[in-house]
Amino acid sequence: MNAEIIAVGSELLLGQIDNTNGSYLSRKLSEIGINVYFHQVVGDNEERLREALQTAESRADIILLTGGLGPTEDDMTRTAVSNWTGVPLQHDEEAVRRIQAFYDARGREVTENNWAQALVLEGAEVLQNDEGLACGCSMVYGSSRIVLLPGPPRELQPMTNSHLLPLLQGTMEEQQQIQSQILRFYEIGESTLTDEIKDIIEAQTNPTVAPLASDGEVSLRLTVKGPSPESNQEMLDDMKMKILDRVGSWCYSEGGETMEALTTELLRAQKKTVSSAESLTGGAFADMMTAFPGASEIFPGGIVCYSNEAKQEAVGVSAEILEKHGAVSAETAEAMAEGARRRFHADYGVSFTGAAGPDPLEGYQPGEMFIGIAGPEKTTSYFAGLGGSRSRIRMYAVKHGLYLLFQELRKNKGG
Ligand code: ATP
Ligand code: MG
Repeated sequence: MNAEIIAVGSELLLGQIDNTNGSYLSRKLSEIGINVYFHQVVGDNEERLREALQTAESRADIILLTGGLGPTEDDMTRTAVSNWTGVPLQHDEEAVRRIQAFYDARGREVTENNWAQALVLEGAEVLQNDEGLACGCSMVYGSSRIVLLPGPPRELQPMTNSHLLPLLQGTMEEQQQIQSQILRFYEIGESTLTDEIKDIIEAQTNPTVAPLASDGEVSLRLTVKGPSPESNQEMLDDMKMKILDRVGSWCYSEGGETMEALTTELLRAQKKTVSSAESLTGGAFADMMTAFPGASEIFPGGIVCYSNEAKQEAVGVSAEILEKHGAVSAETAEAMAEGARRRFHADYGVSFTGAAGPDPLEGYQPGEMFIGIAGPEKTTSYFAGLGGSRSRIRMYAVKHGLYLLFQELRKNKGG
C-alpha cells in the first residue's frame, strides 16, 4: 500500500513554516509498512487543491491531507474535498458535543463558524481531536482512501497515533490474505529436518515455517500473510527455495500432494500398472491402491501370501529360495515381486515380507523387512527397519513401498 501526503497552507509555500507534518506522517506510515511515494504542498486555494487531489488519486492508495480544518474562511480543505468527491458534509454528533462542552466549560456561547469543525464527509470514519476542536476523518473514495487531518502538529500527532494508525492497520489486516504451502519430506526425521533449517524457522515471521510429523513422514507448512496472492506466492517461493537448498533431497512433494496421490498420478500419466504380493502387510498395499476411484486402470490386482505355501503357490516363489534364504529375505521379496508382476501382467510388482512384530521372525526384529520392486527392466529389493506397533509397522511398510515405487516411476519421467 502506498500513500501520498498533501500539506495544505499558503504559509508553507511562503516558507513561513516548515512542513513537519509531512515528515512526521511519512515516518509514522513507514513504521506500519505503508510507503509514501509523494509529498505535495499546496496553498489555501480550492482550484489548486483539486489539481493536487486529482494527481494523488491517480497514483496513491491513501491520500492524507493536513491543514485547513479550522473554523476560518481560509480553512477550505473539507469543502474542497467534498466538492471534488461529490460527497456531502455532515455534522458528527460526538464532535458537536465536544465543541459544545469546550465552550460550556469556559462559560461562552459557541460562535456559528465553530460548528464547521465538526463537519465530516458523509459515511467517513471520524477521527476525534483530543487536543482541539476540528475533527478529522477518513473515507474510501474509489480506489483510494482520503484522510483529513488538522494542521497544528500538537493536534495532528495524537490524532495520528491514537486514531489514524490503528484504523489503517485494521484495514490493512483485513486486506491481508493468508496463503500456505506444504512441503512433504520422507526418509528424514523431524528432529534432523528442523535441525537443518533451525535458523530459518527461528528467523522467519512471514512466511512462518511450521514442522509437523505424522504417518512416518515430516511436512513443513509455510504460511504467508500479505496483500496480494502474487506477492504472497513470491514470498512462499523464496522461502521454499531457501529450505530446499538445504534439505531438498528429502522433499518429495512441493505442493502438499500425498505420496499416494503422486504415485497414482505418475502411474496414470505413464499408463503403467502395478500389482502386489503381500506377506507382512496382509493386503494393506492393495487396500490403499484401490482406495481411489478408477483404480483398475493402474492396479489390476494383488495377492496376500502369508504362509510359505501361499508364497509358492500364488506367486511362484521357489522352494529353494524359501529354504536357502528364508521367507524374510531379499531373494524372497524379489521373487514375490516378480511373481505378482507376472501373474497380473503388470508393469510393476511390489512385495512386502518381514517381521510385523511383536515377536522377531527368522532372526529379524519387528519392523525389519524387505520390499521388492520388479519393473520392466530389473528387479530390486530394499531392506528397511521401521519402528512402532504392529499396525504402525504395516502402515509404514505400505508407505515405504509406495515411496520406492514412486522413486522408480520418477526415473521414467522425461525418459
Ligand atoms: P487551525 O484550526 O489552527 O486553523 P487547521 O487545521 O486549519 O488548524 P492550518 O490553518 O492550515 O490548520 O494551520 C494551522 C497551524 O498549524 C499553522 O499555522 C502551523 O503552525 C501548523 N501547520 C499547518 N500545516 C503544517 C504542516 N504541514 N507542518 C507543520 N505545521 C503545520
Ligand atoms: Mg486554519
